Amino acid sequence: MKVLVINCGSSSLKYQLMNMENENVLAKGLVERIGIDGSVLTHKVNGEKVVIEQPMKDHKVAIGLVLDALVDKKHGVIGDMSEISAVGHRVVHGGEKYASSVLIDGKVMEALEECVKLAPLHNPPNIIGINACKELMPSTPMVAVFDTAFHQTLPEEAYMYALPYELYTKYGVRKYGFHGTSHRFVSMTAAEMMGKKPEDIKMITCHLGNGASLAAIKGGKSVDTTMGFTPLAGVVMGTRCGDIDPAIVPFLVKEAGMSIEEADALMNKKSGVLGLSELSSDFRDIENAAKEGNKKAQLALDVFDYRVRTAIGTYVAALNGVDAIIFTAGLGENSASNRAAICEGLTYLGIKIDPEKNGQRGEALEISTPDSKVKVFVIPTDEELMIARDTKEIVESAK
Ligand code: ADP
Repeated sequence: MKVLVINCGSSSLKYQLMNMENENVLAKGLVERIGIDGSVLTHKVNGEKVVIEQPMKDHKVAIGLVLDALVDKKHGVIGDMSEISAVGHRVVHGGEKYASSVLIDGKVMEALEECVKLAPLHNPPNIIGINACKELMPSTPMVAVFDTAFHQTLPEEAYMYALPYELYTKYGVRKYGFHGTSHRFVSMTAAEMMGKKPEDIKMITCHLGNGASLAAIKGGKSVDTTMGFTPLAGVVMGTRCGDIDPAIVPFLVKEAGMSIEEADALMNKKSGVLGLSELSSDFRDIENAAKEGNKKAQLALDVFDYRVRTAIGTYVAALNGVDAIIFTAGLGENSASNRAAICEGLTYLGIKIDPEKNGQRGEALEISTPDSKVKVFVIPTDEELMIARDTKEIVESAK
């Protein structure tokens, strides 16, 4: 079975065609600048890159070109579009309706529309992508895989905010959490690496990329996560502030004359390690500057590490212990110094990192010493594979 995975943003689109017999990636690529001048499709097959520059007025045109590239005589990987058995779509918000992935039908589309108010920037392009695929491949089954679904197992005490209860019933104001597909993938992989069933372990997964979140996972289920009603909450991120005193917002409106929109943009786009370092949102730039003695860059790293470390501490309390800590995503997978700095303050848990193993890169790896009381792993996340696996399973069981 061949599954096409689609991840649609407002002006971009990532795709991967996977052969599910061996979970190999047959081709993958990225379309950028959809609907803007300079639209470009970068298609990758067997390490080779094909760049197609062509106007793409909307997502339907872009997906049409992706399908053309997949069946192309020269750089294509399938003979015919009918070889694509199913399409898996990444969808950011499934609200409280979806605790797992789902076969897309009219009812699901209605539910996705209802969730637009909860994710006004992300769900609309996801819906556009699904509709475009449905038009181009009307008889191919499609599956929605939600970023929020894995966190639907959070207990009430973890997802309720101490606001008037009515805000929850009337507007759906509660913690939803995001990055669920990644947290699920790395926690399942860690359980496999430990030779244990997910039901038997307590884990804390740290997805540390431009966007960052942690999840507390007990018995294979998410019981808490740092992102909240929106992906702005939780730990410090590239440009997002994470948790702050909510009274800062009305203070800025009053004292600095900011509009609500300006305060929102400030917290989402100008804060985080970018705001603290006044240098960059990219951790590579910040680590390099800190090494050269830049104090604000060092402060940004210290604040980031402190917040991740204290979130781990919080989740040790939520889980009443922890068997494994997992690092993933851009920073979590690549920065040995960052992992070491976070774990340095966790010796009370009996955590010991092997510096040599921590220095290795590329594949899933245990980086703790054999006598460490808690196992620590670096596991490259693979949200596309998780989406493809769900899609295969759902489409096969619907037959
Ligand atoms: P997202 O998917 O949230 O955009 P990624 O998971 O791709 O983010 O992570 C991107 C971030 O990872 C970059 O902004 C960069 O700060 C960090 N990163 C990537 N490689 C390295 C590295 N070798 N050292 C430190 N940080 C890195």
